[in-house]
Amino acid sequence: MSDHILCKFCGNLRPRTNTGICETCKIDYEHIRTYVTDHPNSIVMDISHATKIPVSKIMTFVRGGHFLLVEGTFAVID
Ligand SMILES: [Zn+2]
Repeated sequence: MSDHILCKFCGNLRPRTNTGICETCKIDYEHIRTYVTDHPNSIVMDISHATKIPVSKIMTFVRGGHFLLVEGTFAVID
């Protein structure tokens, strides 16, 4: 059995862990989460601009169930 699997967010090979997310995506996720917590009514363009994380990747986190999009603005899911 391989001890590496593909990250479900970026598709990069990563060590097998319980989280399903690679170190890079984890850092990106924390950046987005911090920004959304500080700026509750942000739209995806604001978040992308502030965090330097591409919109497509932010939307991957939304699809993965890590953030909630409500009428275009973001909410953190715990
Ligand atoms: Zn990743």
